[in-house]
Amino acid sequence: MIPLDKLYEGKAKIVYPTERLDELRIVFKDDATAGDGAKRATLPGKGQLNAAISAALFRMVEEEGVPTHFVRSDGPDAMIVRKLKMVPVEVVVRNLAAGSLVRRLGLQTGATLRRPILEHNLKNDALHDPWVNATHVEALGIASAAELAEADDMAMRVNQALEPALAARGLILVDFKLEFGRDTHGAMRLGDEISCDTCRFWDSVSRTPLDKDRFRQDLGGVVEAYREVWRRLLGEDGEGA
Ligand code: ADP
Ligand code: UDP
Repeated sequence: MIPLDKLYEGKAKIVYPTERLDELRIVFKDDATAGDGAKRATLPGKGQLNAAISAALFRMVEEEGVPTHFVRSDGPDAMIVRKLKMVPVEVVVRNLAAGSLVRRLGLQTGATLRRPILEHNLKNDALHDPWVNATHVEALGIASAAELAEADDMAMRVNQALEPALAARGLILVDFKLEFGRDTHGAMRLGDEISCDTCRFWDSVSRTPLDKDRFRQDLGGVVEAYREVWRRLLGEDGEGA
């Protein structure tokens, strides 16, 4: 079989067409970027672990009734997904204060919140993914109010599905970023990835980060932390992730 040319290469993944018009193949890279691209590294094993973690979490989310793009894993570092027309908005859900929320609002890392916070960022590297609200999204024609409300509702359901499931595996789901899009039938689905690159996971006991914050903050042991998350999700030892 002749390999098809890639459609798109991003910071963390490469998107390929497949022989089906309604499906794509997404390959997870070992490359890591942080600080708006200022910091870069290649972390051998990261791509395979994020592919395995994403597959496990997409399955959990689907089981709780949230439609996703995930079709199946395809080799150790890739997944076959339904092709989506992406809504160029990142939906962030937060259960505890961390990262940019702490910086913006002067909170303590780990501060409890009275309810989950939902935030939106425009997906635009040149503008550094600026914070927008629902009225910006509607006013600028990025998505309709109904579409954003549907994505928000799905994001909250993802949180309700994952937070207790991860807690049962000794992980605190601190916050995460989701991307949504419409499939070829017009239905909204969760797309992209749910991994240690896009979620903050803390060990429930020590509250140490087991996610990309280890890279952002130079804490070391990045791939080891991703492997620990994978091991807790799948109950295996990391071989063949
Ligand atoms: P970035 O574009 O932010 O550098 P990635 O390296 O993760 O990100 O590239 C993956 C790209 O694929 C992203 O632009 C994402 O929006 C897009 N994408 C994710 N899932 C799908 C899908 N099911 N259909 C079409 N595009 C998708
Ligand atoms: N996030 C992401 N991609 C981004 C920005 C954030 O996946 O471009 C995730 C990040 O991993 C965290 C959550 O979204 O789980 C909230 O990130 P935050 O706004 O705190 O930004 P950061 O601290 O990364 O600047």
